[in-house]
Amino acid sequence: MSLLHQRCDPYGYGTDRGPRHLMGGVFGPEYAGSDLVLEDGLHGIGVCERQADGWFVMQCPVAHTGPRMPLCWQHKVMIERRMAATCTACVMPPESRALWEDQRRAEESLRRAYGARDEQAVARLKALIEDIGAQQVELTRRGLTPRRPMKLVEVS
Ligand SMILES: [Zn+2]
Ligand SMILES: [Zn+2]
Repeated sequence: MSLLHQRCDPYGYGTDRGPRHLMGGVFGPEYAGSDLVLEDGLHGIGVCERQADGWFVMQCPVAHTGPRMPLCWQHKVMIERRMAATCTACVMPPESRALWEDQRRAEESLRRAYGARDEQAVARLKALIEDIGAQQVELTRRGLTPRRPMKLVEVS
């Protein structure tokens, strides 16, 4: 193994600039030891002082990948072990994402309808939200929202 002259950077995992779209936000501070949680309590893993042992990408079985990250072996092992990650690109395909957005809009309209005491709109929107929920269930039933764990794969 050659020396990379590159610091291990697991820090990106806990932040918005990390591959959050692939982590689904499952990587919270509760996964790190108290000595690794930063002051703000938001970043799950602290800044690592070690040299990186290699470049890694998160990858799911159908090859959705995250950005290249320099990691030391300790962090490689720790991140893989502690992250019961589900690939959110798999679990939330575009059809599913579109449904979630429909649902968010419908819920927003529902709040307004309640505010306006518009009972007809409330009934219509409740039915719509139920229908969206049923469509989500249908996607899952058809196996279109699989939960696939991710792995760190070494890259050059
Ligand atoms: Zn490290
Ligand atoms: Zn995937």
